[in-house]
Amino acid sequence: MSLIEIQERVAKAENQAGRAPGSVKLIAVSKVQPNDRVETVLEQGQRLFGENKVQEAAGKWPDFRARFDNVEVHLIGPLQTNKARQAMGLFEAIHSLDRPKLAKTLARLAQELGQCPDLFIQVNTGEEPQKAGILPVEADGFISECREMDLPVHGLMCIPPADEEPSLHFALLGKIAERNGLSGLSMGMSSDFERAIAFGATHVRVGSAIFGERDYG
Ligand SMILES: *Cc1c(COP(=O)(O)O)cnc(C)c1O
Repeated sequence: MSLIEIQERVAKAENQAGRAPGSVKLIAVSKVQPNDRVETVLEQGQRLFGENKVQEAAGKWPDFRARFDNVEVHLIGPLQTNKARQAMGLFEAIHSLDRPKLAKTLARLAQELGQCPDLFIQVNTGEEPQKAGILPVEADGFISECREMDLPVHGLMCIPPADEEPSLHFALLGKIAERNGLSGLSMGMSSDFERAIAFGATHVRVGSAIFGERDYG
């Protein structure tokens, strides 16, 4: 696979779903990938990236931002409250707002700094005990809490259980977003981004299909 092929598949899925061209943002998930692969994709014109660790992002993106214009990096992995301040300086969006304590910390920092990245609330649609995210039944309440704190909630994010058909999870996330008047839907990865687009995804997070398998060695 390559960036160009994935861009073509995104465009085709938008078209098939009757979505406007360009309505789906492709986040190239660069976590763990060697810098030369990331650089190749930057040179091909990709400007939106996803990282799942604050430390890792802090190590590579300041340099890339100095060399390439208009780079945008989104945090898609769990955020510890003690790294929230650093994260607010590194990312244009955070897709992993998953608990009240983090919401309170971000709200306090947003007041202090006078700015805040776009936020996506992570919903644990599969109600998996090991997975982060607000439970579906608690989502409406949490969304209003965040709004009362003046947090810029842009949308919702989910990671469906690995062994389940993702469509039900995409549909559930879409329903929660719709009844709460949220327009952003961060869902879909390498194996299912076309399905996610059919269910209304506005942001797909694609790693291995663009860069190749991650080598954790
Ligand atoms: C790693 C990761 C992805 C990308 O996964 P691929 O299967 O490589 O596309 C997407 N979303 C999250 C939250 C991730 O951590």
